[in-house]
This record gives sequence, C-alpha cells and structure tokens, in this order.
Amino acid sequence: MYENKKSLEESQKQILNATEDDYMNEFQMNFFKEKLQAWKNELLQEASKTVSNLQEEPGYMPDQNDRASLEEEFSLELKKRDRDRKLLIKINKSLDSIYEDDYGYCTTCGDSIGVRRLLVRPTATQCFDCKSLDEIKEKHIRKS
Ligand SMILES: [Zn+2]
Repeated sequence: MYENKKSLEESQKQILNATEDDYMNEFQMNFFKEKLQAWKNELLQEASKTVSNLQEEPGYMPDQNDRASLEEEFSLELKKRDRDRKLLIKINKSLDSIYEDDYGYCTTCGDSIGVRRLLVRPTATQCFDCKSLDEIKEKHIRKS
C-alpha cells in the first residue's frame, strides 16, 4: 500500500513520464494492481455497510411519508449495490489480466490502451478508438 498521497502522486507522475518501452513494466503493473485492489477493497467495504443498512429495521411503525422515503432509500441502495457489483466484476477481470500479463492492451485490436486512459479508468479493456467505435455501433443498434 501507499504510505501517503504524495507517493501515489509521484508514482502517477513517473508513469505519465515513462517512455513507450516502459509500458506495463513491473512498476506499472504493480501500480495498477495496487490501485485496482484498493478500489476493490473500498467497494467490498461499502457493500458490507449497505447490507447492514438494509437489515436494520426501524424501531417504530413508519407513517405513510416515512414509508415512501424508506422505500426510495431502499431502492437507491439496491441500485447502488447493483452498480458496485458490476464494477467489482470489471475490477476482478482487470486483476486477472494483470496476473495473466495482458493488462493494458485493447481486447479488440491488441494495441496498448495507454497509461493516461488507464489512470482515469483502470478497468478499461479497450483502447479509446475501439471503445468509441463500439459506442457508436451500440447507439446505432438501439436506434434501429
Ligand atoms: Zn483497440
């Protein structure tokens, strides 16, 4: 784990200034592995918090308005859990690809995804071009 925020920033800087030859070397692989694992832990902690929130029963009979807001809260929690669950699957996939040594390369064209994109979106599996192309295709399918 990173001891403080500064070393995280320094690592990021080092990665951004690295040459193409350094792409996904041991340092970068470790950096993204730790980043993904930290993110995963955060989500898992969130998830266990959500579960205990959902299990907590109100100690009184809520009136109509309270009930409505409780139900709304409940469905928001469920939506969030669903999003987090999907995200966790993505994170696990990215971690797998790190162990298999093919993290950071586009699953469609095989080109490098690039550290800039991965720093913003560590779970990216496609390069920017392929992702954009897919999104255009998706929109097209949805329209027709
Ligand atoms: Zn690509």
